[in-house]
Amino acid sequence: MTAAVLSVRMARKAFGGLIAVNDVSFDVKEGELLGLIGPNGSGKTTLLNLISGALKPTSGQILLGGEPIGGLAAHYIARRGVARTFQLVRVLPSLDAEQNVMAGTVFGHQRCWGEEARRLARALLERVGLGDREHMPVSAMTYIDQKRIELARALASNPRILLLDEWLAGLNPTELKVGISLIDELRREGRTIIMVEHVMDAIRTLCDRCVVMSSGVKIAEGGVQETLSDPEVVRAYLGD
Ligand code: ADP
Repeated sequence: MTAAVLSVRMARKAFGGLIAVNDVSFDVKEGELLGLIGPNGSGKTTLLNLISGALKPTSGQILLGGEPIGGLAAHYIARRGVARTFQLVRVLPSLDAEQNVMAGTVFGHQRCWGEEARRLARALLERVGLGDREHMPVSAMTYIDQKRIELARALASNPRILLLDEWLAGLNPTELKVGISLIDELRREGRTIIMVEHVMDAIRTLCDRCVVMSSGVKIAEGGVQETLSDPEVVRAYLGD
């Protein structure tokens, strides 16, 4: 059996009286692409925040390669091998594309510096379709291109697990096609990924399995087709 890269064990996050993530457990296996889906406000981003260390769990545990990481500072967790992109892009606007991606080589899991970091950044920019814009200030780039920069930066540390928070949101149909094939390429090369996504075509095309959240609770988990046709999942999406 393939080992779990990430195990979420009874993770809970309360904001005052609101339980945004309510005792959620699931595993992500090596090389698996897991879709994390559910209506708005169901706790998906909060879960990613617990995994990446942006938030500390109220209770429960998160294990990376069997080692507890729940509650550690975000920079430690990044160094252990968790990289992410954000729903609202977070780039360093005063720096150019190459410098932004190089930042990922310094702070992440597998670090490198200087010329090696520059070469890696250029290769990754090429890969995300920005090979001709390495010295463009990121502030002058479109939102979509900034998303590409974020993905390149996340990949720069060769993470053990990559968290994508609605990376495909806002893309036009042509960009969406390119975006889906880029993620598919990452999957084929064996990367372990959790993808929070509303684009159902992408979930169907890309994911090995999915976990469905509703009101902070995991309501379903399993193969994509069976999960999406689960009556409880349909109800959660369509409302009562
Ligand atoms: P999703 O990503 O599924 O849209 P979120 O994880 O963003 O859902 O939010 C889950 C719930 O937690 C929502 O009700 C949201 O308003 C609440 N929430 C998220 N972050 C905070 C916060 N920092 N403080 C208080 N409530 C929050």
